[in-house]
Amino acid sequence: MTDRSAIEAQLAQLVVAFREQLPQRATEVEEAWAAVQSSPEEAELLQILYRGVHNLSGSAATFGYASITETARGVERLLRNEKGHPLDALTPRQIAPLATGIRQLTGICRSESMATEPIPAAMSKAPATSRLVGSPPKHLLWLLEDDAAQAEALAGALRPYGYTVRIFPNLNTLSETSDWEEADALLADIEMPEGGSPAFIHDQLDQRGIKLPLIFVTVHDDFAARLEATRAGEQGYFVKPVAIEDVVDHLEDLLMPEPETPFRILVVDDDEVQARYHALMLTQAGMLTEYVTEPGEVLERLQTFDAELLLLDMYMPGCSGDELARVVRQHARYITLPIVFLSTEHNSSRQQYALAAGADDFLVKPIDPSRLISVISTRAARARLLASLMFRDGMTGLMTHSTIRDRLKAELSRARREGGELTIALMDLDHFKSVNDQHGHAVGDLVIMGLARLLRQRLRASDLIGRYGGEEFLLILPQTGCERARAIVEEIRADFSALTFRALGNVSLHVTLSAGLACAQDYDESEKLFAAADKALYTAKHGGRNQSAFAPPENG
Ligand code: GH3
Ligand code: MG
Ligand code: MG
Repeated sequence: MTDRSAIEAQLAQLVVAFREQLPQRATEVEEAWAAVQSSPEEAELLQILYRGVHNLSGSAATFGYASITETARGVERLLRNEKGHPLDALTPRQIAPLATGIRQLTGICRSESMATEPIPAAMSKAPATSRLVGSPPKHLLWLLEDDAAQAEALAGALRPYGYTVRIFPNLNTLSETSDWEEADALLADIEMPEGGSPAFIHDQLDQRGIKLPLIFVTVHDDFAARLEATRAGEQGYFVKPVAIEDVVDHLEDLLMPEPETPFRILVVDDDEVQARYHALMLTQAGMLTEYVTEPGEVLERLQTFDAELLLLDMYMPGCSGDELARVVRQHARYITLPIVFLSTEHNSSRQQYALAAGADDFLVKPIDPSRLISVISTRAARARLLASLMFRDGMTGLMTHSTIRDRLKAELSRARREGGELTIALMDLDHFKSVNDQHGHAVGDLVIMGLARLLRQRLRASDLIGRYGGEEFLLILPQTGCERARAIVEEIRADFSALTFRALGNVSLHVTLSAGLACAQDYDESEKLFAAADKALYTAKHGGRNQSAFAPPENG
């Protein structure tokens, strides 16, 4: 995580860098102007001049130099035709006003470079955000249950999901303990030896000063009991016999809110200072950013960075922002990628034109940091929601086959770039056909969902899980070497085999899985890496199933 004060220091450096660049930028504008004067009909020279002036107006606005922005805008207007497009050629009448404007502009740039820099808005106003990081903790539950057999059964069923359960046979035993703060929730039967009603249990806990999320587990399914439980502030209500999966799902929602993964934003601006500045504003708000200054690099970076939103400058050499938006939209996988323009463009017909090119929003520089952050995070959140519907398997909520394959490519190239480790595992349920044959397809579905739940619970937010086939799952574990991945997979395998599934007629069953692992360091392409994991899975199956196996290195 980037430290907030470090980001502020970087922002401050950018402001200084911009101020120090001002004389150089002025000289560039003067040189471009001299070139234009010697060949006033050369469109290319005019474009260079236009860009120089335009970038000055944008960056000056960004860094709080209003006088430069204003003067640069005036010059910009002189360099545009009535439709708002940059001029192709100058007529003699246009020379004098331009000469005056440019002289003023370069003069202001030089004098401002001597003054101390203003404080741009971003440094004082950007809201601080905090995020939850780290791996999901193991949870401790308290269980208030007077029937020892039921208590043991529930505790045992919860254990494979990573819950430690401490059993209390009555309310009296609760009072002997004062360390309730260590527990995450209390599961309580309603009828205790000391008395029995939701209100009674609640009051008893209150008297003991125990303030834990309270979940009732009871035989009572009547409206009155449920209502009383609600009034007692319940955080859950389950009727015996409980379906353990439902309890686990509920606990997961209650205790493990999904750690928010930061949005990944790609910033494109041919002016590097501005690109870095806007990227930093978003970084400061907890987002992950990368920037490119070359439009030609955007497609590749979109893929390697796996960007969720594109923040685009409008005027760039070689390719304008709206052209770039059209090129991006040519790719089916980027049809829903939010594209937001950030430009000094005030002309509303030009803005409309950009929106028609497939952009989602148009923001004008200089932008208030809190507005930039709010527009970007709203757009990115909506896109993420849409993506979760499009790219997730309906039954398990895991990524679909094609999504996880795409991600494998992206993660592998990221690992290459950053020199990080990466291991993948392909899991397949053992003899699953016979589970379906013996217990029916519906029970088979429950088993698949059970494994999905276990995987979601056990892996970190940065790990990727896909339902690769009907009863096949692909895990991508970034920053994880072979040995550690093996340990993780083995733990999941063992825990999964301990899960008890229920079929009709109160039959209980256990299912096992086999896994094949492959490490990125041994393979240079995602296809080969996957094929290796598949081969290792085959080895595990032939080795007797309910085990994991490694792919040997490619040439070994
Ligand atoms: P092995 O140990 O070799 O993997 O044996 P297996 O029986 O698991 O393998 P096989 O590939 O022969 O059978 C897989 C079965 O998984 C067949 C298919 O009906 C079942 N299956 C695939 N998708 C689903 C699903 O979504 N729900 C259910 N209930 N079954 C599914
Ligand atoms: Mg199978
Ligand atoms: Mg199979």
